Amino acid sequence: MPGAIALFSGGLDSTLAVRILQRQDIPVEGLNVRTPFDSSGKPAARAARELGIPLTIRSVGEDYVELLRNPHFGYGKGANPCLDCHIYMTRMARQLMEERNAWVVVSGEVLGQRPMSQKRQDLDLVCRRSGLEGRLLRPLSARWLEPTIPEQEGLINRERLYSFTGRKRNGLIALAAELGISHIPAPSPGCALTETTFAPRLRDLLQTNPKATLWDCGLLRIGRHYRVSPLHKVVLGRNAEENDRIRSLWTRETVVQNALIEPESFVGPHAILCGPATEEVIRLTGSLMVSYTRQVPPNRQEVLVRVHHGQMRQVIQIDASDAAQVRQMCHLIR
Ligand code: SF4
Repeated sequence: MPGAIALFSGGLDSTLAVRILQRQDIPVEGLNVRTPFDSSGKPAARAARELGIPLTIRSVGEDYVELLRNPHFGYGKGANPCLDCHIYMTRMARQLMEERNAWVVVSGEVLGQRPMSQKRQDLDLVCRRSGLEGRLLRPLSARWLEPTIPEQEGLINRERLYSFTGRKRNGLIALAAELGISHIPAPSPGCALTETTFAPRLRDLLQTNPKATLWDCGLLRIGRHYRVSPLHKVVLGRNAEENDRIRSLWTRETVVQNALIEPESFVGPHAILCGPATEEVIRLTGSLMVSYTRQVPPNRQEVLVRVHHGQMRQVIQIDASDAAQVRQMCHLIR
């Protein structure tokens, strides 16, 4: 049975946090929280294997979309509501701690490392709002913070915790060597919400779709996104891999009004049409698809596309002679 639940991305900081507790013979279980915007699954699994800890993977719930829409503590430079997100994930860790009868939650946060969510008052706020006062340990900066209950009870030796602050990594890398961590995890690809180029896509989704779901959020990381009307968005794959992902996402689709549109008589992008799939918008989507293929000569009149819409499968012929003009008229979200 674990004594500690570690919020675990597989990055250097959370790896160190786990190893510090392991050096005190405290059994640790990792919790990797998945959002539609991060790619920490594989690094977390690998790092957990190397540390020899069990790893539980849980996804955020649909209520996370509401958090994105109305973050209590605002956004960072992109569309990243980091403080709200930290509180949300720490609550998930508290829940796992209670399920496992563990006595502390551990995170790799370093005081002052991130301007939006790791200032002293932020760390205290996360503690309070997650209901983990006295039970949330940051081993890398613990010596600057109030002792947690397990420290007071002697279950964790405070003298063997650390006092890192700020953004510099040298001290952490030196500690990794000292603690026998041979593989320094590469900096993670991170969370798409922090990318300023990604923010317009999320804003467009939240402004135009009051019923947006995690599925819609997942779609934001794929392809080119065209806003073609207040009710309609077209997402086009940029390569074979994205076309596969579009088809795979489609099979998990629960919103019946959206449509998957595939090229039938040419090789080109696959598309998801979000919004009521009227014939007019299906034709417009076909033109956009044609505008991204060299397979159809300019001014060629007719092509075929296959439309999947609810239970319906239909091949339709569209006039694509004005594909280039159609593309110019549509708004590329970026
Ligand atoms: S970077 Fe992304 S995953 Fe991390 S706290 Fe901020 S919003 Fe959440």
